[in-house]
Amino acid sequence: MSTPAERHRFLCDEIARHAHAYYVLDLPSVSDAEYDALYNELLALEAAHPELVAPTSPSQRVGAAPREGFRKVERATRMYSLDNAYTEDDLREFDRRVREGHGHDELVVYVAEPKIDGASIEVTYEDGVLVLATTRGDGAVGEDVTTNVRTIQAVPLQIPEKRTLTLRGEIFIRPIDLETINERRRADGDPEFANPRNAAAGSLRLLDARLTAERPLRAVFYDLVERYFEHHHAMLAHLAAVGLPTHRREHLCRGVDEVIAFITRFDTERRALPFETDGVVLKVDDLQLRDELGFTARFPRWATAWKYAAETAETVLREITCDVGRTGALTPVAILDPVQLSGTTVSRASLHNLDQIASKDIRVGDTVVLQKAGEIIPQVLRVVPERRPESAVPWQPPTVCPSCGRPVEREEGVAALRCVNARCPGRLEAAVWYFTRRGAMDVDRLGQSLVEQLVREGLVTDLADVFALPGKRDRLLGLERMGDKSVQSLVDAIENAKTSRRFDQLLTALGIPLVGSVAAKLVAERYGDLRGLLDRDPSEVRQELETIDGIGAKMAESVARFLADPDVHAMLEKMLALGVVAKQPMKAARAEGGPLAGLSFCVTGSFEDKREAIWERIEAAGGEVHKSVKKGTTYLLAGEKVGKTKTDDAAKKGAKVIDWSAFLALLG
Ligand code: AMP
Ligand code: ZN
Repeated sequence: MSTPAERHRFLCDEIARHAHAYYVLDLPSVSDAEYDALYNELLALEAAHPELVAPTSPSQRVGAAPREGFRKVERATRMYSLDNAYTEDDLREFDRRVREGHGHDELVVYVAEPKIDGASIEVTYEDGVLVLATTRGDGAVGEDVTTNVRTIQAVPLQIPEKRTLTLRGEIFIRPIDLETINERRRADGDPEFANPRNAAAGSLRLLDARLTAERPLRAVFYDLVERYFEHHHAMLAHLAAVGLPTHRREHLCRGVDEVIAFITRFDTERRALPFETDGVVLKVDDLQLRDELGFTARFPRWATAWKYAAETAETVLREITCDVGRTGALTPVAILDPVQLSGTTVSRASLHNLDQIASKDIRVGDTVVLQKAGEIIPQVLRVVPERRPESAVPWQPPTVCPSCGRPVEREEGVAALRCVNARCPGRLEAAVWYFTRRGAMDVDRLGQSLVEQLVREGLVTDLADVFALPGKRDRLLGLERMGDKSVQSLVDAIENAKTSRRFDQLLTALGIPLVGSVAAKLVAERYGDLRGLLDRDPSEVRQELETIDGIGAKMAESVARFLADPDVHAMLEKMLALGVVAKQPMKAARAEGGPLAGLSFCVTGSFEDKREAIWERIEAAGGEVHKSVKKGTTYLLAGEKVGKTKTDDAAKKGAKVIDWSAFLALLG
């Protein structure tokens, strides 16, 4: 039988392996449910055996209490910026200087790499363990953001490499994730991030690393300070081999002509990459030659950054409207004459916040230059002053909410307007949409225009009403574009959402301020289901949550305040009454007692007792039942007539095969 320590080691390795597959290779190796099961088993095991918790355990990625500020760290080797090249001539000039320094006229081999648009980072591993992460700062002195970087799943806490590695790389947010973040920020009334780079840099430097944990940050490393290799490409291959995230898109070019050919080709390829690129970094491959070339005051002489000209389009801005968010925040949006930009038709662009409009002096009637941030989100880059009609006047923010017509409030110091009417239909629409959208409660058929109608017609007056819709078929049939078929599929989708979502998914979908999916999981594990949470007094909830690692005082307070609102409480009770079951599978809480806490069992073969009775016994003793052996199953409990293939297979997956008497012994 494996000891708890062995099991712990196994779980840590498995979880790290799956995280690597998912976040680094983009090739998920298990389902979310299986991953969660492993992770929960780890939490349970650590709860039962606190001495096993190590800084390298995946459970230690949740962040820690907020700090006052960041410690300054002076680095031994300065972080440089890169010189830029915008034209073919610039590239040839760069190559000429490299060859000059080289002393002879041979072709120089360059490594061409995507230039990732994020925030630079330096990360140090000692003896295989992540010990330090710093921002670039002014190059010589950076800020210690180790706690924040530890929350980034793509960055391993431990690697199989004993030598010290001082890595340079980039922390970034995928454009697709930025949309989700901005959606959330819009709803919370926080100013949107204008681009992935700002979002990454901002998230990295949050004083409360638990909030960083909620941000979908990614990482890529592309340089190593230590000289263990002769060539840059060999170094990159080594980083990938020890499980570090790399861009995996390097291309060797012999001489500047190949560089130019590559850059032309890559302009198309880069659009399909999961990260935002604004260029290509060229680096001399031969590290010996690099040392000979050295640095100028600001740049390495052995590298340069090719910058692609961003694709832009001009069009006329017809109107500035405001979207109303879930919490009443108003976000200005530009309504544009439709125009083609990087392959899509653009007719709307978020203006993010009032400051943007003022600082860019954007007016209705202006001709504006659009650009896409991350190839996805169109942005107004600037106005074309020469084409401004004489009649154009500076835009005046609305004084009343475009949805309910009630006066809006402008918050002190923040460039944000807010509708404070709790009964504003615009706010409700935004909340319903946020609640039911994909990845939240996932009610597939509930698009924006249908939500609008449901609110307008009074069919939905709060989030719980969504679950009452199956009982209102006749009224649904009266809505625009709703036939028998579409009503049926909407009803099916809602019925399905009632019973098939986890509690943490429900909590996330509710959009409690500050509570993202990571914190929601912790809350869900603590209370098990909605009933469990509602039965507690909000002030007790606050105290209980504060004791949980990974939940800060502000988050705990926010949950308590949410629950203390009588309207919210009534709405949640209504959800339960309408048959919403959202349970958290596998609770770490079980570990508190029971001889089988932290262990999982698959039962096979025949026994005197019924299979179901054995399952019950396992669960009653704090163990977990797996219907089949999978990675992470502790034991295969084998009865009579179990084939050897089955036991061999179980052993291969890391489960130990035991018989009835061994099982009884475990039970004590
Ligand atoms: P810039 O900020 O425009 O001067 O560009 C320099 C920055 O590009 C560096 O400080 C890095 O943070 C970043 N960068 C992104 N991708 C790479 C890469 N593949 N190699 C080196 N630097 C990169
Ligand atoms: Zn309103």
